[in-house]
This record gives sequence, structure tokens and C-alpha cells, in this order.
Amino acid sequence: MEFRDLKKQYAVLKDDIDKSIAEICTSAHFISGGQVKELERQLAEYVGVKHCITCANGTDALTLALKAWGTGRGNAVFVPDFTFFSTGECPAAEGAVPVFVDVDEHTFNIDPDKLEQAIIRVKSEGKYIPRVVAAVDLFGLPADYRRIKAICEKYGLLLLEDGAQGFGGSLNGKMACSFGDISTTSFFPAKPLGCYGDGGAVFTDNDELAAVVRSLAVHGKNAENKYDNIRIGMNSRLDTIQAAVLQVKLKAFREYELDSVNKAAAMYNEALENTGLVLPAVGEGFVSSWAQYTVQLPENTDRNALQTRLKEQGIPTMIYYMRPMHTQGAFAGTDSENADCPVTEKLCGRVLSLPIHPYLTREDIDFITGALKSAL
Ligand SMILES: *Cc1c(COP(=O)(O)O)cnc(C)c1O
Repeated sequence: MEFRDLKKQYAVLKDDIDKSIAEICTSAHFISGGQVKELERQLAEYVGVKHCITCANGTDALTLALKAWGTGRGNAVFVPDFTFFSTGECPAAEGAVPVFVDVDEHTFNIDPDKLEQAIIRVKSEGKYIPRVVAAVDLFGLPADYRRIKAICEKYGLLLLEDGAQGFGGSLNGKMACSFGDISTTSFFPAKPLGCYGDGGAVFTDNDELAAVVRSLAVHGKNAENKYDNIRIGMNSRLDTIQAAVLQVKLKAFREYELDSVNKAAAMYNEALENTGLVLPAVGEGFVSSWAQYTVQLPENTDRNALQTRLKEQGIPTMIYYMRPMHTQGAFAGTDSENADCPVTEKLCGRVLSLPIHPYLTREDIDFITGALKSAL
């Protein structure tokens, strides 16, 4: 059994994917071109924003957003303590300081009350200027943007939605990757919408920012002339082959994969009720795209032993995430020493992610949940 079954997905989509890849090879047009333009149009339409700019990966997408705003030295960027490293790494790489904020123990997403407290603390200390809130749609669930947006407005902060895991989720009918002043996603193979290598995208409704991001992604070029460089940028493009693969996958994602993965999550919820596990919460009005299905084990469970038992039966599990961001060595000596994140610390000790993907069958879920219950 696979943790995320990309082989099964390929078997289903093989004819279309093979044909698309072969067309790119025949045309020998490997960078940019019509497929990338068309994919950007489709992604922007699906998400419901004016501009989509594809790029090389989800980390670059975050960097492009931060660079477009000129985020850097002296700025504070508020980041959830429970996330993948990139969310904190990218602001730090720009010279800004990531300020780690604790998360809600039921949704795993940044806690709006703790966010406001952190903003007030940083303002009163006067060492850094609060600039950006980088909210993450962890495990496929949009963060609580109703409250986060209000906080950003109150304190005059920019909102960056890190939707690397969130593509396809929604809140009151509004799609993930449309909540930020700039939003980003990743097409890493194991994300909700993945390509066959690295890929990413930036989304915004703002014409000026879109133009700056487009320029930054190609060496800071002038919009009309590629060899007229007007700012220091990056080389961050989505390969044409990846765009072709993503067009096929986006169609499947819209037509049935997002529904199927939600059905798989519902089957897990039903089978794991009243087992002593804390199940992932999806609040009223929220839809998750289930990048992960993550449970919290009862206190004092031997998680290693449990994973070994499941592995012996061919069931792969993962720990997302082992360590709070503020304890990562790379952030030592920064504001991370002021972080107060007891919920994240607790979660890191108790979470377990189970196999989840659109091609998981009722039999798979019965087998996984049966093994998990008996191991508990
Ligand atoms: C995967 C991920 C990223 C980075 O995406 P890459 O495409 O791997 O660079 C950023 N943020 C979060 C929350 C992620 O899960």
C-alpha cells in the first residue's frame, strides 16, 4: 500500500498524460509556451482570482511573493509554528524575522488569538516592524481567514496564504489560494494537485503585483523585453511538460479526485469514531482537500511501536510534523526564542498521518482502521 498512490493515479490517467508529454517532446518547446499560459488561465479561473503566475516550486512561490512586497531586514513575518520548513525559511532568507505563532489544536492552523497577541508583542518591543502574516492551509484545510483578514486589516499587515497543501479547499464557497493579498501553492507530486517533478504557482488579484512577480520569476525582466533587466530576480519557471501533466491532472481533480478524497476522509471519520483518537476537525463552511489525514493519538501512546506494527502489515504512516518550527536549529538566535507554542509542542508528540488519496478504496480503509484499532 502506498501512502499517496501516484502509481494508481497514473494507471487511470496514463493515456492522456503520455499523449500530452509526447506532444511537448515532439514540439521540442520545453520552457513556457501555450501549455503554461493555458494552465495559468485554468488555475486562475478555478481558484477565482485574476492572475496566476506559475513557477518552479512552492518555496519559490513564497519567495516571489515576499520579494514582490520588498519584505526584508527589519520586518517581522508571522508564521504558524506547526508547518513545513519553507513557510519560515523564505522570510528568513529575505532577511526578515519569522515570528512563530501557536496553532489551534483541532484544525492545526494558526490560532487567530495567538496571532494578535504576537503582533501586539512585536509592536510593543519595537525591534521589528510587523509586515506580513503567512497563514498556512495545513493538511488541506484553509486557515480561518474570516478572522485572520480582520486582524491583518486592523494592524495594516499583508496577508500571504501559503496554500501549498491547500489547493482545492474552500471556505464558504471561496476557494483556497484566493484569500491572500498574494497566495501560493506547490505542485510537488504528493500535494493535492501534483505534477511529475517540482512546480508551484502564485495567485493575486492585484495587477501591479502580478506584473512584478512575473518579472521576478524571469530574472527581473522588463515585460516587453527579456534582455532588459529592471530588477534582481530569480530563474523560477514551470516546465512545459509539467504544465501539460497538470492540465490532465487538474481535469481529474475537478471532475472526481477532490470528491473521492473527501469520501475517503469521511470513511476514516466514521470508522475511527469513539476510538480515543482525536480526528481532524473541519469547521462549518470549510472544505478540505486532504493533503493529509492526521489523527492525534491518546496520551502516552508509543507512537514508534504503533508505526512499526502498522508497517509490518504493509501500512505506511508519517509524522507531520516532528518538530515545532521555533525549535529548528536554523532559526536559533532569532525571535524563535520568544515563541510560546505549547499546542504545537503537544501536537508534534501525538500526531500520526494515515494514507490518504483519491484512489483509496473502502477495503483499504477497513484494513487500515482495523489494524490501527487493534494496535491501539
Ligand atoms: C510543500 C510545502 C511548501 C513548499 O513547496 P515545494 O514545492 O516543495 O517547494 C511550502 N509550504 C508548505 C506548507 C508545504 O507543505
